Amino acid sequence: MTGVCIGIDLGGTFIKFALLDEGMSVRGKFQSPTPAEAGPDGVVEAMISGAKKLLDREGLSGGEVVGVGIGSPGPLDLDAGVVIGIPNIPGFVNIPLRRLVSEGLGAPAVLENDANAAALGEYLCGSGEGTSVMVMLTLGTGIGSGIVIDGRLVRGAHGIGAEVGHTIVEPEGEPCPCGQRGCLERYTSASALGRYARRLIEQDRRDSSLADVLRSKGNLDAADVNEARKAGDDLAAEVWDRAVGYLAVGCVNLARLLDPDLIVFGGGMAKAGGDLMEPLTEQFKRLHWSIAEPKTTLALASLGNDAGLIGAAGAAWKQFGSGESR
Ligand SMILES: [Zn+2]
Repeated sequence: MTGVCIGIDLGGTFIKFALLDEGMSVRGKFQSPTPAEAGPDGVVEAMISGAKKLLDREGLSGGEVVGVGIGSPGPLDLDAGVVIGIPNIPGFVNIPLRRLVSEGLGAPAVLENDANAAALGEYLCGSGEGTSVMVMLTLGTGIGSGIVIDGRLVRGAHGIGAEVGHTIVEPEGEPCPCGQRGCLERYTSASALGRYARRLIEQDRRDSSLADVLRSKGNLDAADVNEARKAGDDLAAEVWDRAVGYLAVGCVNLARLLDPDLIVFGGGMAKAGGDLMEPLTEQFKRLHWSIAEPKTTLALASLGNDAGLIGAAGAAWKQFGSGESR
C-alpha cells in the first residue's frame, strides 16, 4: 500500500479535501460547506470528519496517511501552527489548528497560508511543473502571492516575506489597509479595478456604460470592467490598461529581483484570460530592461480553485515524505 497525504483547504464558504499520492496525483477529492455558525470547534470537527469521510470513500483506513497539509487564510503563526484569525469565520481566533487536526486524524500536520499553498500547488502539479523559480500572484480582493525557489516556499526571516501585493509602486500613493501607501494591490487586484472605475464615475463624473452596471449591482469588478472595455467603453479601457500597466511594473520588479522561470496568475482578474495576458505580456516586454531579452514567462494558473488544496497536500509530502517529491 502506497501512502497518501491529505490536503485540507479551509475557506470561509467551503472546506475542501483531497488525497495526493507521492507521484503528486490526486486520488480523490471532496468539499463541504464551512459551518462558520458552529464556531471554531464545529469548523475543526468538520475538517477532521470530512477528511475521514474521504479516506473512507477511497477505501483507506487512515494508516496510509503520511501527513496532513492545511491551507488557511491568515494571519497565521506558521512556526506555532496557529491561526491568529480568519476574517470570514467569526471567533476563529488563536486556534492551534495544526495540533487539533493532527490529533484528530492521528497523523503529523503542517499549516500553510492559502496563497503559499496555491503557489506550491501550481509549482508541483500545475503551470509551474518543471520550473525552478516560480511566482504565483492571485488577483482577487487583494493580491495573494507565493514564491517557490527550488521547491521551497520563500518565507523570509520573520515569516512575512513574499508579499508581492504590498510592494510599493507609487510613493505617497493610495493608502493600503497594511499601513503603507501605494502598494501594488491598491492598483491591480480584481477589487482595485472596480474601485478605480467607481471613483472615476462617482467623483470625477466621467461618462461610462459602467455607470448603469454600478447602479444596478452596487459595485464593479474586473469582469464588469473587461466586458465594458470590449464593448468599446473608453473609461473601462483606461481602467483596464492602468491596472495591467501596474501589474507589468510588478512583474518587471520580480524579474529583476528573482529572475523567475515563470510568473503565474490566478484569481478573479485572471479569469479574463488572454484579455489580461496579451496586454500584460506586451507591457512587460516594453518595460523590461533592454540589455537582454525577457526570459521570464507570464502564464495563467492551471489548477483553478484546487491549487491551494493540492499545494496543501504537497506541503505535507515535502515535510513528512521521504524527500522524493520535487
Ligand atoms: Zn499594503
